[in-house]
Amino acid sequence: MNAQQLSERLKRVASHVPRQAVLADIGSDHAYLPCYLALNGHITKGIAGEVVKGPYESAVKQVRQEGLSDVIEVRLANGLAAIEETDGITTVTIAGMGGPLIASILEDGKEKLAGVERLILQPNVHSKAIRFWALENGWAIAAEEILKENDKIYEILVLERPGVPVSYSQQELLMGPWLMKEKSPVFMEKWERESAQWKRILLSMESTEQTIEILEKKQELVEKIRMTEEVLHGENS
Ligand code: SAM
Repeated sequence: MNAQQLSERLKRVASHVPRQAVLADIGSDHAYLPCYLALNGHITKGIAGEVVKGPYESAVKQVRQEGLSDVIEVRLANGLAAIEETDGITTVTIAGMGGPLIASILEDGKEKLAGVERLILQPNVHSKAIRFWALENGWAIAAEEILKENDKIYEILVLERPGVPVSYSQQELLMGPWLMKEKSPVFMEKWERESAQWKRILLSMESTEQTIEILEKKQELVEKIRMTEEVLHGENS
C-alpha cells in the first residue's frame, strides 16, 4: 500500500470524504489517506495527526516525497489535539483502530469538533462503542459500510449532525442501523461468526462455578445471541 495504491479499506473511507473538504486524519501513520485524497485533488487542505514519533516521521517523509507539503501538515499530537480552531476542519477521519479507542479520542477532544460536519470512522473491532458515543453526543449515523479484505472484516461509520433527535435500539447499537437493514453477505458472515463464538463461550461457562459474575456474563451473552439471531434469522428479516 502507498498513497497512490490504497487498501480497499482506506479507499472506501476516502469515498466518504466530501469534495473540497478540509480534512483531519487522526492516527494517520504514513499519511497515505490524506496524501491519496490530495493527489486526487479531492481535498484542499489536510492535517495528518500522529501521537507516536515513528509513524509521525513516516508521515512527514511521505508528504514531502509526494510534494504535498503545501497541502498537508503533519502534527505530532494526541488525538484531536492535532486540530486548531483556525484550521477550519470540516471532516475528520479516524481509521484502523479499535472502536473504544476511536470513541475515547472523540470524547477527549469533543470541543475540537465544533465546526466539523462529518466524522468518518473505521473501527477494526467493537464499533458499538462509536455508535454509543454518537448517541450520547448528538451525532447521527448517516451511513455505514461493511467490507472484507485479506480475510478481515471492517466497518465504516459516517457520522453527521442530525436535524432532529435520533435514538438507536440496543440491536442497532450492536449491529448498525443501516448494516442490519442491508444484511450484506459480509454482515451475515460477521454475525454468524460472532454468534457461534458466543455460543462456544456460553457452553464453556457451564463447566465452571456459577458465581454471580458468571451468571451475569451468561445472561449478557444470551441476550447478545438473541439479538443477533433475530436479525439473522428472524421472521421479519
Ligand atoms: N489510519 C491508518 C490506517 O487506517 O491504515 C493507520 C492505522 S494504525 C493501525 C493506527 C495509528 O494510530 C498508529 O500509527 C498509532 O500510532 C495512531 N494512534 C493511536 N492512538 C492515537 C492517538 N490517540 N492520537 C493519534 N494517533 C494515534
